[in-house]
Amino acid sequence: MKKNKKEAMFYEKKDKDTVQCHLCPHNCVIKKNKSGVCRVRINKDGILYSENYGEISSMGVDPIEKKPLYHFYPSQGILSLGTFGCNFMCKFCQNFRISQQTPKTTFQTPDEIIEQAKKRNIMGVAYTYSEPMVWYEYVYETAKKAHKEGLKNVLVTNGFINQKPLQQLVKYIDAANIDLKSFHNEFYKNLCGGSVEPVLETIKYMEGKTHIELTTLIVTDHNDKKEELEELFEWISNLDPDIPLHLSRYFPNYEMEEPPTPEKTMDEAYNLAKKYLNYVYIGNMRSQAGQNTYCPNCQTEVITRQYFKAKSHLKNGKCPECGEKILDNFFK
Ligand code: SF4
Ligand SMILES: [Zn+2]
Repeated sequence: MKKNKKEAMFYEKKDKDTVQCHLCPHNCVIKKNKSGVCRVRINKDGILYSENYGEISSMGVDPIEKKPLYHFYPSQGILSLGTFGCNFMCKFCQNFRISQQTPKTTFQTPDEIIEQAKKRNIMGVAYTYSEPMVWYEYVYETAKKAHKEGLKNVLVTNGFINQKPLQQLVKYIDAANIDLKSFHNEFYKNLCGGSVEPVLETIKYMEGKTHIELTTLIVTDHNDKKEELEELFEWISNLDPDIPLHLSRYFPNYEMEEPPTPEKTMDEAYNLAKKYLNYVYIGNMRSQAGQNTYCPNCQTEVITRQYFKAKSHLKNGKCPECGEKILDNFFK
């Protein structure tokens, strides 16, 4: 299939040569032969095309813990794939070679992806590595077909999408890890080229409709203040204190040179988050406590994790000491 073949969903024609994309809150007005902020939606003669449709930059089977998702079929493998392009430009992006550049890709149809997941006898497909929301048409088609075949669909996303496309897609999504990078708009504006409100809307919409976990990358001097973190933890807790939160340690990357976040900051953030939330984890840093799941009621260690492998001590999904329900999709 030739590039630029797939007409985009969610756009309108403004005049003969100009279109407006309504997929994400940038709502880009795009002139002829130009693309939107994400670089992958291009106006060709008044028609908007998804340029990355079916173009895969990386694919492999990952443990679900790598997404990270710790409360969704622990220790299971999932077929993980990504493309290129992003509607953010995070200065600390760990995947900038695919988010901000155009890597080598191979084309695969949705049916070919599903075939591979079934052949490997794994639970489903994860749309990850790059931002799946700007791969919308492909993710939507693949996810819809995957559900028909009894496979699960997982999104790893920045959550920066408009409500209409989100609602249409969520019907086919079983779990998502959504980045909540900060609670402050300045952070989103200055470091990512976005805004926080639509991300909060995405989280609020998805909560309860599909399994969600959140990730906050703690970046030295940018979002590591106690008050700011506390505000964020409190907001999540008001939504649902059972939403697992992954605190990820920042390392210098792409356009950001500040030193890695000190381990002490990570530990402090972890302890603070635990006051508000039942399930908090630490990523990008050695921390056994930050890997395990503890019963929120009696603090018994109920799941031990090492190198993306989870060992359950649960009894029928419940804490063996006090009977608190923890999760019921272990090894299903
Ligand atoms: S998806 Fe891309 S083209 Fe569409 S509004 Fe967002 S950044 Fe702009
Ligand atoms: Zn317990």
